This record gives sequence, structure tokens and C-alpha cells, in this order.
Amino acid sequence: MSVYDIAVIGTGPGGISAAVTAAVRNKSVLLIGEKGLSSKMRKAKEILNYPGFPRTSGGELADRFQAHLDSMGIPVTEDRITAVYDMGGTFGLQGRSGEMYTARSVILAMGVVSAASIPGEDELLGSGVSYCATCDAPLYRGKTVAVIGYSPDEEAEGAFLSEVASKVYYLPMYKGDVSLDGDNIEVIHSRPVRIERGRLVTDDAEYEADGVFVLRESVAPAKLIYGLETDGAHVVTDRQMQTNLKGVFACGDITGRPYQYIKAAGEGNVCALSCVKYLDETQKM
Ligand SMILES: Cc1cc2nc3c(=O)[nH]c(=O)nc-3n(C[C@H](O)[C@H](O)[C@H](O)COP(=O)(O)OP(=O)(O)OC[C@H]3O[C@@H](n4cnc5c(N)ncnc54)[C@H](O)[C@@H]3O)c2cc1C
Repeated sequence: MSVYDIAVIGTGPGGISAAVTAAVRNKSVLLIGEKGLSSKMRKAKEILNYPGFPRTSGGELADRFQAHLDSMGIPVTEDRITAVYDMGGTFGLQGRSGEMYTARSVILAMGVVSAASIPGEDELLGSGVSYCATCDAPLYRGKTVAVIGYSPDEEAEGAFLSEVASKVYYLPMYKGDVSLDGDNIEVIHSRPVRIERGRLVTDDAEYEADGVFVLRESVAPAKLIYGLETDGAHVVTDRQMQTNLKGVFACGDITGRPYQYIKAAGEGNVCALSCVKYLDETQKM
């Protein structure tokens, strides 16, 4: 298994800038995120404040970023990280694909995550609540699970779970049709209000469920890595983008306002250079 110098989680301007600078400094980089780069970044119709591009759009900027990555031979590993473990000197990054990645340092560049936890979610995480179908499906073989899906992409996870579990309740947290069918799948159009051991309570009923899969576009940083200092939705860093955890850095919207491309890219650059310094220092010890 490869041990990367730096794992960058997130393919927005923060993560891309960090990956590019780390590669310039000859560090091995694992860049994990979406293949089309950040979907948030692509939403801006007109950008007037990114130096060198007097009038551009999020889509155009993302295409330029992709070309930059391609020109430097930096691939995007398409995965979503559900947990980061400090293994003493290295970090293990659990992907939703089931893959486990290893790196000596980590840059958190996941953008800002707004969804609040469902009551009971934090307390039962790891013992009845899961963020990763691929990782935890085997625990629920022949059992009943509920899947709370925050985007249509999660329907594939629901379908996968229905191959393992005896019954799947699927709760879409988005508008539009759900294309999931199967004898053991029931689509429930109600809001989850509480997760209890063995039960999901919604605004109009209660469902027996051995496990509840909460599948969001991203995991809140404090839940991703144990002991990380946060302030609300934001990760606390110093001016070198160092978090309270040695070897873990953060950049972009995740560190706080203003939410801006250039701020994310600038912090990504600082993050990578701080990471390089950290790696060089720890190598000497
Ligand atoms: C409509 C709109 C218009 C905007 N206009 C402007 C503008 O004109 N000027 C300006 O400066 N800014 C603008 N912004 C803000 C700008 O888009 C953000 O500030 C910028 O994209 C933040 O970059 P980032 O790298 O921090 O995070 P993001 O761009 O949010 O990227 C985060 C990436 O991390 C990935 N990710 C999240 N969690 C995980 C995980 N667990 N594992 C793997 N990958 C993960 C996400 O999928 C995403 O690809 C606009 C935003 C919007 C929505």
C-alpha cells in the first residue's frame, strides 16, 4: 500500500492549490474528491474577483484548474472520505469506496458543510449509525436498515444495501423522483427527527432499524477526525493553516468566512508549504 506524503481531501480551489504546490515541492500527493472538481465552484455564473481572469465563470475556472492538474500529472482519486484516523506518524483515510488510504499528513479542503446532525446521530455513530455503506453493509446482513440520502447519488448506496440487508427504508432529503425499486426497499417521504438504538423516528412514524446510514455530501470535520478543534462549522487554524492536530492542516471555506475562491486558493498554498515544513521536520527527528 502506498504511503503518500500528503493527502488532500477536497477538489475545490483550496485543495487544488494545495495539491499543485505540494507537487511543485516534490511531495507525493493524493488528491481525493469529485472527478468534475467542486460542484459548488462550478455554480458561479460570473466571477469578477479572481486575479488574471477579469470576467470568468465557475465552470471555466474549474476547467482551467483541471487543465493545470493534468499538465502536472496530478490525478483526482474519486472517493469520499468518511473518517480519518491518527495512526501515530501516519493517517488512515477511510473512503466510501471501501478503500483505505495512508498519508503522513492531511489537508482538509472539503468546503463548508452546513447540515446539522440529526438528534442521536453523534451519540450512535459507529454503533448503529454509519456514514459509509461500503464499509459497514456487512454488519447488517439480513437485518433492517434505514438510509437517509441527501442527494440522488445515494440511491446507488440504497440499492447496494438492499442486496445485503433484508429490508431498506430509504428517506430522500431532496426533491424529485426516487428511482429505487426492489421488493425489500420502501421509500419514505418524511423527515427524520431522532435516531434511537434500533429505531428511526420521523415526523409521522417510527421505524425499527438495526442501522441508520446517514449519507450526506460531506461529513462535518469534527466527526471526520477525532479531537479536531472546530468553531461551529469551521475548523480552527493558525495563520500557517495548522489545526490543533499535528500533521493536519485546513484551507478554504472550511476555515471560515469570507467564502471566496482566491481566499481558498491562497490558504491552499499556505497549507501545502506548512505541510512540507512539517514533513521535513518530522523526517529529521
Ligand atoms: C453560486 C455561487 C457563486 C459564487 N461566486 C463566487 C464569486 O464570484 N467569487 C468568489 O470568490 N467566490 C464565489 N463563490 C464561493 C466559492 O465557490 C467558494 O468560496 C469556493 O469554491 C471554496 O473553495 P473550497 O476549496 O474551500 O471548497 P469547495 O469549492 O466547496 O470544494 C470542496 C470540495 O471538497 C469535496 N468534499 C467534501 N467533503 C469531502 C469528503 N469527505 N471527501 C472527499 N471530498 C470531499 C467536495 O465535493 C468539493 O469538491 C460562489 C459560490 C456559489 C455557491
